[in-house]
Amino acid sequence: MRGIGMITVVLALGLLAGCRARGGEPETQHVKAGTGPVPAGESGKQATPAPVVRPPAVAGGFYPSSPKALREMIEAFLARVPDLDAGGQIVAAMAPHAGYVYSGQVAAYTHRLLQTASFDTIVIIGHDAYRGAVAFVCPVDAFETPLGRVPVDRDMVARLQAYHRGIVADRAIHAREHTVEVQLPFLQVSGRKFKVVPILFGVPTLDNARILASAIRDAAGDKKVMVLASTDMSHYPTYEDANKLDRATLDVLSGFDSRKLFAHLRGVESSGRVGNLKTGMCASGGVLTAIEYARTAGADRVKVLTYANSGDVPVGDKGRVVGYGAAVFVKSARGAD
Ligand SMILES: [Zn+2]
Repeated sequence: MRGIGMITVVLALGLLAGCRARGGEPETQHVKAGTGPVPAGESGKQATPAPVVRPPAVAGGFYPSSPKALREMIEAFLARVPDLDAGGQIVAAMAPHAGYVYSGQVAAYTHRLLQTASFDTIVIIGHDAYRGAVAFVCPVDAFETPLGRVPVDRDMVARLQAYHRGIVADRAIHAREHTVEVQLPFLQVSGRKFKVVPILFGVPTLDNARILASAIRDAAGDKKVMVLASTDMSHYPTYEDANKLDRATLDVLSGFDSRKLFAHLRGVESSGRVGNLKTGMCASGGVLTAIEYARTAGADRVKVLTYANSGDVPVGDKGRVVGYGAAVFVKSARGAD
């Protein structure tokens, strides 16, 4: 039985502490919104088509599948967050996306502050897919979790696609992905009404981040929009190295300069200075986009809320960790001009 226990721990770390290994990736499908066949009703009139729902992919793995257990777990995380003051209007945010047992407490810092923010639609940007596009949107009507369905802002999805041909619809790439999904229950527990725009980033370059940020600004129109970058930090250095590198990365993030963050991440990833480093940030495209978007939305600073890594939780292995940071991008109350 000891062997099975070991396998479970290894699997848990590999799958839940950070990102899943990229498997065989499905071909991109360019699915156009609303072009499916419409079933005819009994009277011959066209019936309203059933909503296309993206079911949960990682319930029972990354977080509990029981609505009660899930709600209780999130509420316990939120209750343990100390009083926070963003010091102004939050226009974008960053939260980790590992299994809740690893990163849920850090994510709760961001989500506790998001509960105080006002928005109609939240754009959640998950993993860098490293595939030839700016970003991949998901052409469905709703994302489902054990806490219910979150409607997708299809109007905004269509506007994003219309803005730039590099923003493409791809239902398949979203089907088994966890980085957007794991943020939703945190947003659902408060009972607030909101829509989501689920996005996976393509190739994380500064140009692509600027395109996506401009597209979000353009597609938002008069809506109140929040941007949430769903990312973990360093992957697989030792506990000590991760603490050093991730805190340096958060310092650079605090400088609120996408160019410097990009240079810092690519520099450290290519230098070989940090042993067993696969990436410094697995969804850097979303964070670069959040910086670019927040700047044009009037934000003037980044507030880092907390940091921890998988070595900080009892089941974590300090020899090989994944880092988690929480931050918000804020338009200061005093600098509102
Ligand atoms: Zn990740």
